[in-house]
Amino acid sequence: MAHRWLEAKGQELRIALVGKTGVGKSAVGNTILGRKVFKSKMSMSSVTSECQKETGDVAGQTLAVVDTPGLFETKKEEKEVKREIAKAFSLAAPGPHVFLIVIQPNRFTKEEQETVKILQDMFGENARNYTIALFTHGDDLKEEGVSIETLINENQPVRDFISQCDGRYLVFNNRDKNLLQVTELLRKINHMVQRNGGSCYTNEMFEAAERAIREEMERLRRQNPGIDQEEARRQAERNNSFIWDFLRSTGGFTVGVAVGVAAGVAVGAAAGAAGAAGAAGAAGASIASRVVPLVVAKVGAAVGTAVRTGASVVVNEGACIIQ
Ligand code: GDP
Ligand code: MG
Repeated sequence: MAHRWLEAKGQELRIALVGKTGVGKSAVGNTILGRKVFKSKMSMSSVTSECQKETGDVAGQTLAVVDTPGLFETKKEEKEVKREIAKAFSLAAPGPHVFLIVIQPNRFTKEEQETVKILQDMFGENARNYTIALFTHGDDLKEEGVSIETLINENQPVRDFISQCDGRYLVFNNRDKNLLQVTELLRKINHMVQRNGGSCYTNEMFEAAERAIREEMERLRRQNPGIDQEEARRQAERNNSFIWDFLRSTGGFTVGVAVGVAAGVAVGAAAGAAGAAGAAGAAGASIASRVVPLVVAKVGAAVGTAVRTGASVVVNEGACIIQ
């Protein structure tokens, strides 16, 4: 595995899977990597509850796939959501090349419509340039004799959603082991990455996570000089000061970022010492009960401000390359 890490230097393609529980994110991860590494189940008790990162070489490219639980689902405990968001930032650091928004064609709801908005509000308008919509259940569409183009054209909300992703979409049949759909996805991703000047998406949060990972890798190397670089990174991504700071942060100089889904208004975000309460307030009292308030440490300040003002987050291209 060590040689792979060297090969991957600067050219690992990071894919973040986002979307609601049950739409097929884990199945998509398995299809992409060609291995059953993510648990993909029908039963609610065994669905993904934690972020998970798996890597592999596919069609000559080193891929890192980060599977997430339904991060934006408001029924979850705040603490749990906070932990998973910290872990997602850490596993995808210094930032994903693509946010694959996974959707089930016949279950397109308000929440999906709001997903791009949530990403934009959490990460800035710029995040849109890094999104691709991926419809699962291509087999069902085929059986019903419905083309994805018909589905998109005849459904205004789906059409709007796709245009939010700048028209980038494709269909997957996760029951089909044919590599063609994966190479088609990689072609689309690479084309998009090229348009983005080769950079991944990044922001202050991802950069802070990346810094903490490197510090932790240094510490691990000092502790155990013989440690494999890849293994050090693997351990550091799962346990570092960024995660601890994120979990501990409260009050004082914190910034509150609230993520919530509600009819019409998807996201509320607020900066200020008021933290969670302020954030919930800014999201609107009427939806406060559905809002998951997240209190982010000072590393989140810049993101919080960007969220609040709608300013886009500056992408530091250099930060994208893991070395
Ligand atoms: P997640 O919660 O988004 O990770 O969704 P899962 O990957 O766990 O998938 C939920 C269910 O949908 C599982 O039973 C999968 O087998 C099924 N599924 C996912 N993709 C497809 C697909 O393309 N076609 C069919 N027929 N079933 C799928
Ligand atoms: Mg899953």
